[in-house]
Amino acid sequence: MILAGIELGGTKCVAILARGPGDILARETIPTTSPDETLGRIEELLLGWKRDLGFEMLGIASFGPIDRARDSTTFGQILATPKAGWSGTRVASRLRETVGVPIAFDTDVNGAALAEMRWGSGRGLDDFAYVTVGTGVGVGLIVGGRPTGGFGNCELGHIRVPRLPGDDWPGSCPFHGDCVEGLASGSSLEARFGLRADTIAPGDPLWDSVVWTLAQLCNVMICAASPGRIAMGGGVIAAQPHLLGQIQSKLVESLGGFIELPSGSDYVCAPVLGADAGPLGAIALAMTATD
Ligand code: ZN
Repeated sequence: MILAGIELGGTKCVAILARGPGDILARETIPTTSPDETLGRIEELLLGWKRDLGFEMLGIASFGPIDRARDSTTFGQILATPKAGWSGTRVASRLRETVGVPIAFDTDVNGAALAEMRWGSGRGLDDFAYVTVGTGVGVGLIVGGRPTGGFGNCELGHIRVPRLPGDDWPGSCPFHGDCVEGLASGSSLEARFGLRADTIAPGDPLWDSVVWTLAQLCNVMICAASPGRIAMGGGVIAAQPHLLGQIQSKLVESLGGFIELPSGSDYVCAPVLGADAGPLGAIALAMTATD
């Protein structure tokens, strides 16, 4: 079955047409500008694919916050976002009307989590988490095969966790200061040290607070939902893969023998799909599309 997927990102959108990870038929990147221009180009592309190759379902994995509750009157919209012009944009209903196939609409991190569960590091698991550490920190927490979230989105990137002892830097999140994103994201590193994540050497003590904070985030997820594995990706981790082992060590330390990890040395692991976890997330969502 041919499926179409749109990864709607803050700076660019990736559209793919695929049967799965090993069978990608087409891929296009479109810059994210105004909603009308961006969605207009996506519609043009999708209509072309539908005419030439056909597809049966569409998945949209979007930057947030979004309304993902199917019974809500604003389902499928982008909610209040600092991204100019996008607050209140109807994404799902507009694309549904244009392409005329069943759609699924969810966050980019929920999509990536479902893709990793289908084809990557979460294969065979019903409970799994995908964390992206880039400009921000996003979490897709899947419990019993379904993404978590009620009236809102999973916002575990914005929880406050115990601070690294002795560290009292106020954090960079405009809403919370020293939440996880405010202490461990790429933008927090730039705000704190004036350095891009890829320019800081492995082993530099500047990583201590990042490793500590992400380990505490994993601790919270384990206590709440005990995911069988946690995949961690995004620009910061992709540039500094050595952080994964350190995060897992601090995580084990933080659990204090109270809970044992199930899957050995790579419980906190890199996403197998790498940078494709995002666009393939939209394809994994398309597989769940309903009318
Ligand atoms: Zn925050």
